[in-house]
Amino acid sequence: MIALTTPSHIAILGAGLMGRLLALELAREGHRVEVFEAKSADADGAAARVAAAMLAPLAESAITEPGVVRMGQYGLTRWPELIAQLDEHVFFQQNGTLVVWHRQDMADANRLCSLFEKNRRINPSLPALQSLGAEGLNNVEPALQGRFQQGVYLPGEGQLDNRQLLAALEKTLTRLGVQLHWHTPRETTDFTPAPQAARLGDRLPRPGRTHRMASAARHSRRSGARACP
Ligand SMILES: Cc1cc2nc3c(=O)[nH]c(=O)nc-3n(C[C@H](O)[C@H](O)[C@H](O)COP(=O)(O)OP(=O)(O)OC[C@H]3O[C@@H](n4cnc5c(N)ncnc54)[C@H](O)[C@@H]3O)c2cc1C
Repeated sequence: MIALTTPSHIAILGAGLMGRLLALELAREGHRVEVFEAKSADADGAAARVAAAMLAPLAESAITEPGVVRMGQYGLTRWPELIAQLDEHVFFQQNGTLVVWHRQDMADANRLCSLFEKNRRINPSLPALQSLGAEGLNNVEPALQGRFQQGVYLPGEGQLDNRQLLAALEKTLTRLGVQLHWHTPRETTDFTPAPQAARLGDRLPRPGRTHRMASAARHSRRSGARACP
């Protein structure tokens, strides 16, 4: 990450999750920011519209590397702060992730839980998972209505409303004076680096550079504890 020490004119390509978050941060730092988005303000071209709702580092640890898990843990602490600064309410909860399975999937569930346990040994700051029977599951999530006999609860994980988030970011960016260009696809070659950026060569990001971020996530609540099944 490069610190921009003087106010700059910055173009961001893409108003998905990263484009909007980046624009927010840069606008707050006093930069003049323009965002060019190929699709509409509804984020109909963005993964962030259909995803980015589950904030579940322990659950994700089964399928990703430790560094991404640690970023997910950090992200969980950052989301409430970030949402509190937006101009509209965004649903956020941190009631944990519930993983359930049918009896015939027990072998897969055991493998998954072993992975969770192994990852927790590597990263002890991850929460301990709790094994639940039918009664525990009903306490944690009454909507399941006895349909599952077993599950594990991963405490502390979160969920947010990604579409509310995108709308709240749009509103806040507009207030901060960020210029949002919808239905305006662009390529990095459409932009010329400012003289200052050109002099400093590759120490400064080129205008129009796209940014990406991996995130994590899943649903749920809480109850009594045990170990893996
Ligand atoms: C199925 C699925 C489930 C996921 N689940 C989760 C989850 O539960 N929790 C979680 O945290 N993350 C989840 N993710 C990941 C999350 O969605 C992404 O990490 C995040 O959306 C990436 O942000 P982004 O801004 O890089 O990309 P996007 O959100 O996809 O935004 C990219 C934007 O760039 C625009 N664009 C593309 N090309 C151009 C161009 N040339 N000019 C202008 N605009 C352009 C697109 O139209 C789009 O709006 C999931 C992803 C997928 C696919």
